[in-house]
Amino acid sequence: MQGSSSISSSSVNASMPHCHCGVRSPIRTVWKCDYPGRRFYGCSGYGTNKRCSFFQWYDPDPLARYFDVICKLLETNEGIRSENMELKKSR
Ligand SMILES: [Zn+2]
Repeated sequence: MQGSSSISSSSVNASMPHCHCGVRSPIRTVWKCDYPGRRFYGCSGYGTNKRCSFFQWYDPDPLARYFDVICKLLETNEGIRSENMELKKSR
């Protein structure tokens, strides 16, 4: 892939924003149909007792077409997963 190596991990770390807790926010990835595969900076205490709502997109706005494709993939994946569960149950 051309240009995929242009972003080194060190340059990403250097631009990491600080959240409301004062710590650097790691890049996380959304796996929901609203924003499939889109990356954002979120508090490192996200999902824990810490009530920090820090949120900042890392990726620029992706194309709507890209959303459609990933959303379909997620749906397919979900379908396969539940099918697999059914197969395991019936054994
Ligand atoms: Zn925080």
